[in-house]
Amino acid sequence: MTAKRALITGVTGQDGAYLAQLLLEKGYAVTGIVRRSSHAGVFDHRLKWLGILDEVELVDGNLLDQSALLRIVQAAKPDEIYNLAAQSFVTSSWQQPLLTGQVTGLGAVHMLECLRSVAPQARYYQASTSEMFGLIQEERQSETTPFYPRSPYGVAKLYAHWMTINYRESFGLHASNGILFNHESPLRGVEFVTRKVTDAVARIKLGKQKELRLGNIDAKRDWGHARDYVQAMWLMLQQDRPDDYVIATGRTTTVRDMCAIAFKHVGLDIDDHLVIDPALFRPAEVEVLLGNPAKAKATFGWEAQTSLEALITEMVDADIRRLSANA
Ligand code: NDP
Ligand code: GDP
Repeated sequence: MTAKRALITGVTGQDGAYLAQLLLEKGYAVTGIVRRSSHAGVFDHRLKWLGILDEVELVDGNLLDQSALLRIVQAAKPDEIYNLAAQSFVTSSWQQPLLTGQVTGLGAVHMLECLRSVAPQARYYQASTSEMFGLIQEERQSETTPFYPRSPYGVAKLYAHWMTINYRESFGLHASNGILFNHESPLRGVEFVTRKVTDAVARIKLGKQKELRLGNIDAKRDWGHARDYVQAMWLMLQQDRPDDYVIATGRTTTVRDMCAIAFKHVGLDIDDHLVIDPALFRPAEVEVLLGNPAKAKATFGWEAQTSLEALITEMVDADIRRLSANA
């Protein structure tokens, strides 16, 4: 039997790397779209970190370039397409709202147009987000909770989410939205709060830094491990019917308590190092996210496997190793 073929946009990101690893383990032939960069080969690649750089076919492309995407999809002949590429950072979406709309919102429609015109048999995954819930309408957010996004990122993702549903209903595509709550790992970008914390705690422990500056530490998030969450992406595309699913742990924690786990792990006192910086507060905040993943559990048996403590300590340890190796 020939191997199934998967195409991943955003393969160089956190989730793209873990998903590529999972699909390779399952015997897929994996193609990943990479946007051209002047520093290719200078910084370490996430795929290299996972030891799979040579196993993924990388092709040049950009979510903004429909013609390139069409050629890539035609050549790759994918059975499954995972659209993970995005301008994914909320703070940057306030600084670059138009780019965020173009990449994170319209970019998804570029992919859906490829599906519709040259790969209508392919199964499609859209990376939707809990940021679409924004100003919370229900204590625990599920697939039926009303959306109220609170950032250009959340609005752009909501557009992509509804376009995915519209293409599914209008053209009969096997297109699903995974409404994923925050998920982290040692491969998370350092601009996101968990990795900012674990990187800083590692630096403080190694005597390279004294303080950690954060914004709103009362915000609450439902944090899981990216490795667990890419399993859910794959499972969604194995279902006979396309649908939308919340993927979350079902537990929520303040930024402060998450941070305390990291300091405690290395025997430091959070109050000796944490500084609140008003400049790091956002124009509009999503105060609390708490997901209800019951539908994913009932439909395909998915449950988060990693506790927040295990996640944060894994990240701190990885940052200490990384910084010690670079010392
Ligand atoms: P990352 O920010 O780590 O990765 C984003 C990826 O998108 C990178 O590979 C990046 O490429 C690529 N990209 C950005 N702009 C373009 C473009 N114009 N053309 C092609 N590729 C582009 O995100 P994550 O891996 O954490 O998340 C994956 C997806 O899931 C994203 O869509 C994100 O918004 C969404 N999501 C993430 C959550 C999380 O907690 N991690 C929660 C819910 C949804 P490059 O390496 O060149 O920058
Ligand atoms: P988000 O949920 O996608 O915005 O993920 P982030 O990791 O960027 O932010 C999670 C929460 O941490 C938000 O409520 C932020 O306001 C809060 N936060 C507090 N201080 C910081 C900080 O210094 N950086 C980031 N990224 N977030 C912070």
